[in-house]
Amino acid sequence: MRNRLESLSRLPLRENLVGLSPYGAPQIDVPILLNVNENTHGVPAEVHRAIVDAVQAAALGLNRYPDREFTELRGNLARYLGGGVTADQVWAANGSNEVLQQILQAFGGPGRTAIGFPPTYSMYPLLASATDTRYVTAPRDASFRLEAGYVAEEVSSSGANIVFLCSPNNPTGTALGLDVVEAAYEAGAAARAIIIVDEAYAEFSHAGTPSAITLLPGRERLIVSRTMSKAFALAGARLGYLAAAPEVADALRLVRLPYHLSAITQAAANAALTHSATLLANVEAIKVQRDRIVTELAALGLNPAPSDANFVLFGGLADPQRVWRGLLEAGVLIRDVGIPGHLRVTAGTESETTVFLESLKRLL
Ligand SMILES: *Cc1c(COP(=O)(O)O)cnc(C)c1O
Repeated sequence: MRNRLESLSRLPLRENLVGLSPYGAPQIDVPILLNVNENTHGVPAEVHRAIVDAVQAAALGLNRYPDREFTELRGNLARYLGGGVTADQVWAANGSNEVLQQILQAFGGPGRTAIGFPPTYSMYPLLASATDTRYVTAPRDASFRLEAGYVAEEVSSSGANIVFLCSPNNPTGTALGLDVVEAAYEAGAAARAIIIVDEAYAEFSHAGTPSAITLLPGRERLIVSRTMSKAFALAGARLGYLAAAPEVADALRLVRLPYHLSAITQAAANAALTHSATLLANVEAIKVQRDRIVTELAALGLNPAPSDANFVLFGGLADPQRVWRGLLEAGVLIRDVGIPGHLRVTAGTESETTVFLESLKRLL
């Protein structure tokens, strides 16, 4: 790898990519994978059957390009979101990472600035680099929460053109109040800033946590992004989407590659969405394990952050690397997100969570 990096530095790489490392959560083959916030319950049999049938039918037409406008899929996604969202307000791509990249391609770029509130999703600065967008940060306090006044101040003083608000936030699990989104939107008015609320984990929120989708009417610079990778248990299918003003979708049509969503992807996602209730059936079970992790880690004297997602960030570890390695030896892979004294664990099935908690107890 070292030699490869040296030879990479001899290539005429774009200046703002020099020295960067690719996104790289370790992919290690162990029995219990709790490191990248996947849905560990697997695809329900009924949904599996529907996807296989739909993909089989789509395969017959693979000599033709797919529907460039993924019309049926946009309709199904709008119906799933509800709240008055219409198909022309929906856009989709190969994972919400691609959706975010397209937003930066359309609204970022040289001379433009994006702002994030770390600790937050590690892809934001990488997507900014890849699109020549300057990335600035305003840190969260020790509680990881964000106050409306602070966010508004940072949005306006940075003059940001793009604002990343992640709610519930990865890796902390913190949900944002809608007052924060509203304040960011108002503060971004002078720069005509695009406000992105990344709601990849929205379905795992505690009851009563509102979605920024409710704020869309009348806010043409607001984008709410979602994914089928987490609650829908379809990380491997690569389908992310957003809801926004129809003009936002028109902007993304300028930068998307033609036919970016394959016929196979569209067929799989459409089939899954017609069974969304079944797919989401495991969300409640995951939330139970998430809350159990918070309770049990606190009882162990650790410091778990309250979470509205399907994972828990916990602090109070004297030597997180030792704990991470010890868990790995016990067959449990979790994530070191680079916050001193902390690790992050995905809520698994009940038995996976039990193995994690008991292995951790032994290590402490
Ligand atoms: C997992 C995750 C995504 C989803 O990525 P996909 O490309 O849709 O798989 C988006 N945002 C955050 C914060 C995430 O943690």
